[in-house]
Amino acid sequence: MTELKDLEITYDKPNWCPGCGNFGLWGALKNAIIELNLNPWEVVLVSGIGCSSKMPYWIKTYGFSSLHGRPTPVAEGIKLANNSLAVIVIAGDGDQYGEGLSHLIHAARRNIDITVIVHNNQIYGLTTGQYSPTTDLNEKNKTSPTSITEIPLNPLFVTLSAGATFVARGFAGDIKHQAELIKEGIKHKGFSVIDAMQPCVTFNHKNTFPWFRERIYKLEEEKHDFNDKSKAITRIEEWPLTKVIKEGEKERIPTGIFYKKEEPAFEEGFPQIDKISLDKQPITDISIDSILEKLM
Ligand code: SF4
Ligand code: MG
Repeated sequence: MTELKDLEITYDKPNWCPGCGNFGLWGALKNAIIELNLNPWEVVLVSGIGCSSKMPYWIKTYGFSSLHGRPTPVAEGIKLANNSLAVIVIAGDGDQYGEGLSHLIHAARRNIDITVIVHNNQIYGLTTGQYSPTTDLNEKNKTSPTSITEIPLNPLFVTLSAGATFVARGFAGDIKHQAELIKEGIKHKGFSVIDAMQPCVTFNHKNTFPWFRERIYKLEEEKHDFNDKSKAITRIEEWPLTKVIKEGEKERIPTGIFYKKEEPAFEEGFPQIDKISLDKQPITDISIDSILEKLM
């Protein structure tokens, strides 16, 4: 039985700013691992670069800090090498929806069995507050002092269109709900993406905890049918907004599972790893001499 103490490191503590949304998502991830009764050695966290990408340092599972925008292909490689692991990507919006967007699209269309959790604070936090692909339209910040005119990326629309078989959104202010989504994502056999809204209390003074609480609702409370792709698209398109709304109007932000479908996972198409994972296969009787000879 996995307990909290099994996942806690003793030599260091997260250095996120006090009040940062990453703390809630950290708690939710640990709760999900515990509630699924996964042993620390059965989980690997893969990150890129950003505030949230420090996560592998602060949960005692296996961890891999990769390059900016590259955690998803690294996670895919890990899954193919050892498909018995629960492979989880922790990335930020700049990291995964900016630099790493093409990797996200291709992982989604492959339906490889990994879970991508994007800590979406709608800003580049680690580099002190530049606007990101998901910053709200018309928002002002240090790299857009007169306001942003670019329509924000809708990451869930993009991943669903690419073929993702599990698409969800959570919120750092609702740890229990976020943990449930992570559990469902890990259990899902295939590619899962969770857009996790994560207030950055230091550099994003618009999308705060109270701001989200006034707008968020849960799809399950409105009896959303996550088997229906067209209904999923309708809900996904509710937010982020693609036009500026009138003063006093409030958008609604759906959270929960938008879409879920059972399809064969990418790795199931490889007979080489069908019965026994690659890391457990003997290598003593493998010779590459004949290949080398052809090259000489
Ligand atoms: Fe969190 Fe923002 Fe501070 Fe980064 S800069 S730790 S995202 S509050
Ligand atoms: Mg960010």
